[in-house]
Amino acid sequence: MMDDKLIFLGTGGGRFVTLYQSRATGGVIFNTSEEQIHIDPGPGALLRAKEYDVNLWNTSVVCLTHKHFDHVNDAPAVLEILRMKKKKGVLLASKSCFEEIVPKHLKDEISIVVLKRGSKVKINNNLMVEATGTKHGDSDGIGLKFKTINYGISFVSDTGYYADLSKEHKDSDILVINLMKPKGYESEKHLCYSGAKRLLQEVKPRACVITHFGIKALKSGPLDLARELERETGIRTVAATDGAKMSIQNLLRKAY
Ligand SMILES: [Zn+2]
Repeated sequence: MMDDKLIFLGTGGGRFVTLYQSRATGGVIFNTSEEQIHIDPGPGALLRAKEYDVNLWNTSVVCLTHKHFDHVNDAPAVLEILRMKKKKGVLLASKSCFEEIVPKHLKDEISIVVLKRGSKVKINNNLMVEATGTKHGDSDGIGLKFKTINYGISFVSDTGYYADLSKEHKDSDILVINLMKPKGYESEKHLCYSGAKRLLQEVKPRACVITHFGIKALKSGPLDLARELERETGIRTVAATDGAKMSIQNLLRKAY
């Protein structure tokens, strides 16, 4: 718990931000004392890992939440690491990613668990993960809710708001929210400001990190979006930046 952290290999999302690399799109590294978990290795994951001093050889778990290119583009390269480590690591993937993204030749050579809403996997004695639902273009898409002895952290992934979303993330202490669009926008398939606010008000986590900004969220200013969310919900909210390293312990601190 002391050294558990998040490292953002990217904080951009959506087609334009990804194609122009207005923000990086290499996914998120979640480090616990025993695991290095790489969630959604999008375009540039390898380069961003080098840039931000993350040794991908240490990766023990790769997670693919859904098949969109800004989430999985570098997956074949990152999965090669698991192949070289001879089943020492595991891929957790949505059905769509397993079927359409994982290269055929890797399917027998790495350990893979296909996740759908409600699936639970024990990663080690101190770490469980449960797949949550999403409402998104990829109907097989999942979110991820990790539980350690000390805390729970959710990677909500790409999803529109729906009533059960809050129930599914209820017991998480930290929510990592993909915030595509700012105030004044609504989307069925993505969390915009209003959906994120509702989710925070209902889940009441100890902290929230916003990331995966679309072009409109970037223009409106992620820092301002975080401040406004925090002001309106009373929940500590941090806007991720490319290369940011965040200590879980710091995120869970009461006062700051
Ligand atoms: Zn998506």
